[in-house]
Amino acid sequence: MPKCPFCDHRNPASAELCGKCGGPLPTAPQTNGRSLEEQLLWLLDRDEKPDAISLYRQQTGAGQQDASDALDAFERGEPLPPLPEVEAGLEEEILTLLQGGKKIQAVRVYREQTGSDLKDALRAIDALAAKHGIAAKGAGCAGAVLMILTTVWIAARFLVQV
Ligand SMILES: [Zn+2]
Repeated sequence: MPKCPFCDHRNPASAELCGKCGGPLPTAPQTNGRSLEEQLLWLLDRDEKPDAISLYRQQTGAGQQDASDALDAFERGEPLPPLPEVEAGLEEEILTLLQGGKKIQAVRVYREQTGSDLKDALRAIDALAAKHGIAAKGAGCAGAVLMILTTVWIAARFLVQV
């Protein structure tokens, strides 16, 4: 039951366009580059640029400024900047690190493997996190700190009892 990303109308599973507003529906579970472009085109066509920017950011992990620049160019008829390609093995390694809240390490591994600069690496990591629905910012660090504190606390208690 695909929910329309534009008006929240619930559509039959076979629908490719929203029955209410005519917007393109996400077809496959995984949005590929082409359908992102179609959705962006549709939004820009309706003067919904802020929505187009949020959609673009959500799908690519780009920052506000980068998204805005990319869409300006897109509106002028230029292609969207290619999404950073990550090979499967590296992607898996990075996902594992991200899920463990180790974003800095993920960026380092990515840079070592691809030779890209810090900005590109961060962008690629954010895109990967967005693609897999991982909140790469904040939560992971807090979790790690909590875990360390818990470990220390348990160790301290153990020492006191002995
Ligand atoms: Zn709709």
